[in-house]
Amino acid sequence: MIKKPFVTKEKLEEIAAQVPTPFHIYDEAGIRENAKKMNEAFSWNPGFKEYFAVKATPNPFILKVLADCGCGTDCSSYTELMLSEASGITGHDIMFSANETPAEEYALADRLGGIINLDDITHIDFLKDTLGYIPETISCRYNPGGVFEISNGIMDNPGDAKYGMTHDQIMEAYKRLSDMGAKKLGLHAFLASNTVTNDYYPMLARTLFELVVEIREKTGVKIAFINLSGGVGIAYRPEETPNDIAVIGEGVKKAFEEILVPAGLSDTAIFTELGRFMMGPYGALVTRAIHEKHTYKEYIGVDACAANLMRPAMYGSYHHLTVMGKEDAPCDHKYDVVGSLCENNDKFAIDRMLPEIEKGDLIYIHDTGAHGFSMGYNYNGRLRSAEVLLHPDGSWDLIRRAEKPADYFATFDCFPEFAGLSK
Ligand SMILES: *Cc1c(COP(=O)(O)O)cnc(C)c1O
Repeated sequence: MIKKPFVTKEKLEEIAAQVPTPFHIYDEAGIRENAKKMNEAFSWNPGFKEYFAVKATPNPFILKVLADCGCGTDCSSYTELMLSEASGITGHDIMFSANETPAEEYALADRLGGIINLDDITHIDFLKDTLGYIPETISCRYNPGGVFEISNGIMDNPGDAKYGMTHDQIMEAYKRLSDMGAKKLGLHAFLASNTVTNDYYPMLARTLFELVVEIREKTGVKIAFINLSGGVGIAYRPEETPNDIAVIGEGVKKAFEEILVPAGLSDTAIFTELGRFMMGPYGALVTRAIHEKHTYKEYIGVDACAANLMRPAMYGSYHHLTVMGKEDAPCDHKYDVVGSLCENNDKFAIDRMLPEIEKGDLIYIHDTGAHGFSMGYNYNGRLRSAEVLLHPDGSWDLIRRAEKPADYFATFDCFPEFAGLSK
């Protein structure tokens, strides 16, 4: 698949004249179209709801666009819960899937009316001690252990993951929660990340549907909703085939009809908690080439760095690059495209064949809409960038200003001698 920017060079220069690079830009039209396809793919399930994983793109303007498309939020911390509330998303439109959760976070999730997803069996008593009761609607996170292998060789290692309860624990947990007054129980599992295959959700669904039937048989407990969580991936590389959510939805439906319907459980609701799939392709990091360096390799220095997009430095992740205005030029130059951190892994591309880059060129880093801005940090005193939302009619809004030095010094404001720096 040829990867094309969702915005023109002219539009980016227009924006850059008011919002200096680097900035992340998001494509509202793409977000809405994809969310619509997501809902259509699962429209066979009357209770279906996507709870967008806030950690992927924690911006209230994005959450509002997604809420307008029928999505709720999946929160995992106190401030993510605050963000959801500030975006007008509360009650059962919140799933709270945290782990090693502090008591005050459970308390806030419950005060907002969110659905709490327990990561461990010991959290039943912890929650009871925190709230004084067990909420009527509550969910448990399952970890089957071992290795989870998807047909085309993609695999992940749940047995090594810190999340979720074992098979026996989750059986016990549902019995105890029911005895303590819970009425609407949910099952949640996240077994593999960024799966670029239409098979992941259907395989996961099969595992969870079979477990739900077993829970019913062995404990008498009826599971009201099943949360397939995150993990549906995107094609970061041009040679990858993107997932087809319609095919994925059909695959889950088939498993539902084969396992849950015959067991008399056809009223079970399906939830998802996707981050990357909902936002990844609909965001880009826009940066400008500000230096070129010819030493043992050819380097292009840009004004963004790993503090604005950590994935390449952290996981060696591939992000496709487009040099704006040179889409049709031959890729006959081999570059390392690098940021300014004093860390040699601060490279957006290594030995990448690209058109000849000149100082001043805008470089569009694809697929930063999820786990991009949000993984930002302040190493080397680098500041987080602005975020811009491009609307379907071509107009745009700044949806987060860039950090200023005063923001960096804000946590010294309690010391009179440094207070001036945070103004
Ligand atoms: C990170 C996360 C998600 C979203 O994962 P994606 O890979 O972005 O789809 C969903 N649920 C939980 C509990 C998570 O930790």
